[in-house]
Amino acid sequence: MSVVVLLGPPGVGKGTQAALVAERFGGEHVSTGALLRGESSSGSQLGLKVKDLMARGDLVSDTDLFLCLESHLDRLDSSESVLLLLDGVPRNVSQVGRLDEVLRDRGMKVDKVISLTAPVEELVERFRKRWSCGKCGAVYSFESEPGVDASCSRCGASGKFERRADDGEEAVRHRFGIFREETAPVADMYAAKGLLQSVDALRGTEEVFASVSEALKKIL
Ligand code: AMP
Repeated sequence: MSVVVLLGPPGVGKGTQAALVAERFGGEHVSTGALLRGESSSGSQLGLKVKDLMARGDLVSDTDLFLCLESHLDRLDSSESVLLLLDGVPRNVSQVGRLDEVLRDRGMKVDKVISLTAPVEELVERFRKRWSCGKCGAVYSFESEPGVDASCSRCGASGKFERRADDGEEAVRHRFGIFREETAPVADMYAAKGLLQSVDALRGTEEVFASVSEALKKIL
């Protein structure tokens, strides 16, 4: 199974693109943010530990992150999948090496890194309108709060739209700061390894997807 890492600032559309690639090419979309939110809402010990940290927009510790990621990877039934799409990891320089080890232990390696790019001001504006389905996590852009009868076009759940705890303006600005300081150097590391391809994400979902698909051609 080929491994693709999706990099990019908060709100750039990593989750949307990873879900599309997974659906159309047959892949496993692994979002570390979604895994951690799942822990948090399940009330597990790990979830309780990371809940406030996440709501503030801080990163969870590498130890907690890999505990969660490795146990998920070990539960994946990937027999039908050609791709593993990693969305949200690595997020700092030390996670790059740790991720390599985790993948190597499972007979995989990072094959391609796609960096989705967009100006920060545009993304801040996107957050103001960002809602997600509380059932499946699909992300939507709404000018105002969706009505109780609004339903998710992906899973059909109705009246389940919610704002993420870390999508408020203060947490969002904090998350951009962390991206600049801790995550941006990750792209430079992958560029030095010849694995990085950048894609302009300030376009429609399908246009961005066409560029992402083009970038994946060689490994598909
Ligand atoms: P995301 O859904 O990718 O925006 O992630 C939401 C939150 O989950 C982040 O702000 C962090 O608190 C946490 N998180 C997700 N992935 C990681 C990671 N690789 N390392 C540390 N914290 C993470």
